[in-house]
Amino acid sequence: MHIVVCIKQVPDSAQIRVHPVTNTIMRQGVPAIINPFDLFAIEEALRLKDRMGGKVTVITMGPPQAEDALRKAIAFGVDDVVLLTDRAFAGADTLATSFALAQAIRTIGAENPVDLVFTGKQTIDGDTAQVGPGIAKRMGLQLLTYVAAIDEVDLEQRSITVQRRSEGGVQVIRTQLPALITMLEGTNQIRFATMENMFRSARYVVPQWNKDRAGIEDASKIGLKGSPTVVSKVFAPKPKAIKAQMIDVSQGPKATAAALIDTLTSKSARLANELGLVAY
Ligand SMILES: Cc1cc2nc3c(=O)[nH]c(=O)nc-3n(C[C@H](O)[C@H](O)[C@H](O)COP(=O)(O)OP(=O)(O)OC[C@H]3O[C@@H](n4cnc5c(N)ncnc54)[C@H](O)[C@@H]3O)c2cc1C
Repeated sequence: MHIVVCIKQVPDSAQIRVHPVTNTIMRQGVPAIINPFDLFAIEEALRLKDRMGGKVTVITMGPPQAEDALRKAIAFGVDDVVLLTDRAFAGADTLATSFALAQAIRTIGAENPVDLVFTGKQTIDGDTAQVGPGIAKRMGLQLLTYVAAIDEVDLEQRSITVQRRSEGGVQVIRTQLPALITMLEGTNQIRFATMENMFRSARYVVPQWNKDRAGIEDASKIGLKGSPTVVSKVFAPKPKAIKAQMIDVSQGPKATAAALIDTLTSKSARLANELGLVAY
């Protein structure tokens, strides 16, 4: 079984600030990490490989520094990696990103057919959750989003059964391979890197693919040229003026409940007044 996992290197959003005057994102000194959602995809792919054998290839599209993310993936135990990097990819929106990734995965699959593609549910910087479905559509793969667990993969029947979390419950879905899974967060825990894999990662020569190596002939579909999205403005939301109100619980349950009721009653009366509602 050949599994491809798409990962993105992202700035650690816990450390990002927006410039108060220019409203631009201040990236200086912000460490780059593997998109946290993608760690669940890597771990699930490795678990499948542990169960069924085969190979896990990880791919990322990004600047040359994204090599660090791929080295980490090797330390976790993946077999191969591909860094898709070319000035021609710069300025790509989700449409152009999914086009480039889909074409590169096709090229990877030409040597060793791909049964399953994983992405994270979304990234912590772009946050659109569009790239996974975009790849699936372009490659004609069965799309399984918000997957929480993989119950069964039957390579003879070419089928996969997964648990998909949806509003109000869990759906158990069975479909045909090849498929693309967008993996939900909190579904597993990334393993520790072994010493052997850390040595392998340090020595590994990361293959860098430009657009030609990825098999992309139509340059109008990648980078800025292939990106119809326009970001008109980026701004930080204004901090809320209202502060959280603390209720002292040390006064005991009865007094705490009474204080809570008082607070809620006065707040709802104020809100009703503001909205011009009559309270009965
Ligand atoms: C007009 C415009 C210009 C842009 N220019 C640039 C630019 O120059 N440089 C730049 O870095 N970004 C640029 N971006 C951002 C870029 O479009 C997004 O980073 C990218 O499309 C991924 O979207 P997302 O972060 O919302 O991912 P999501 O759709 O939320 O990601 C879902 C999953 O897809 C996979 N995935 C996403 N991105 C990648 C990737 N690059 N490689 C492998 N797997 C991936 C991951 O598994 C991820 O969990 C630009 C965006 C716009 C709108």
